[in-house]
Amino acid sequence: MPPELIETIAGVRARLASVRGQGASIGLVPTMGALHAGHASLMTMARRHCSVVVVSIFVNPLQFDRPDDLRRYPRTLDADLDVCNAQGVDIVFAPSVGEMYPVEPVCAVDIGVLGDHLCGRYRPGHFRGVATVVLKLLQITGPDTAYFGEKDAQQLAVVRRLVTDFNVPVRIEGVSTVREPDGLALSSRNARLNAEERREAIALYRALQDARAHIESGMTDAAEVRRHAQATVPLRAGLSMEYLEVVDPDLFQPVARIDGPVIVAGALWAGDTRLIDNLRCEPPKTS
Ligand code: AMP
Repeated sequence: MPPELIETIAGVRARLASVRGQGASIGLVPTMGALHAGHASLMTMARRHCSVVVVSIFVNPLQFDRPDDLRRYPRTLDADLDVCNAQGVDIVFAPSVGEMYPVEPVCAVDIGVLGDHLCGRYRPGHFRGVATVVLKLLQITGPDTAYFGEKDAQQLAVVRRLVTDFNVPVRIEGVSTVREPDGLALSSRNARLNAEERREAIALYRALQDARAHIESGMTDAAEVRRHAQATVPLRAGLSMEYLEVVDPDLFQPVARIDGPVIVAGALWAGDTRLIDNLRCEPPKTS
């Protein structure tokens, strides 16, 4: 059966209240649409563990720091419904902006130090917008489990702290990053790359792999790791690394000395498309 498309908050609340009453477990996969195999792997996990799977599709204006990025963000509802159908999704919740924000919101989630670095630093207000819409979606759908990609590691860290700090009764599951055969992380923004940008976009993953190799072979000076990784990025017009940082996996603060698990994260501009990726790395065990 194709998924049921629901566009109102009252509608999805009523539908989920009835399935909850029958004892079903609810899995939520929040997305902004333009669905690809990365999103599908979140749905697969939800399908495996929950009796009712809800995918939300909402391009959240609150989390866009650049109006042209919001305007150009792909919106492909019909194709998205096909992806959800193929994954056995039960309900697609696709509200309009007016449905989610009938009045200009006054309250928003303060994410504290979690937004000080990486994308938080370069996209002011982004994670505040993410945390606010995720809290709204959790309040609206009341899932048992919500699924988020490790591709957006800082977002996942924000969501984990959000539910801990506000006692939201939901389990948060992180799902591994799905990649193209050459290693490029799948992203809705990849569709914007021309053939040359697509070829060069792999520089981001290569830089992260370089960092991981150095960390795993015992390099402990984060500045040195970053210098080496940065040097792998070809000097080409239109290709530039916005940031490449080594941070701790909980609060996403930069570390100077690597003596435990870290996240190496980067953002790369390929033309006017901004791509992000990250790898979790561990130094060798010392006995
Ligand atoms: P988005 O539609 O970009 O907001 O992404 C919705 C969810 O899908 C987020 O939890 C992302 O982290 C996740 N996601 C996006 N790309 C990937 C990927 N390549 N692999 C795994 N999860 C992903």
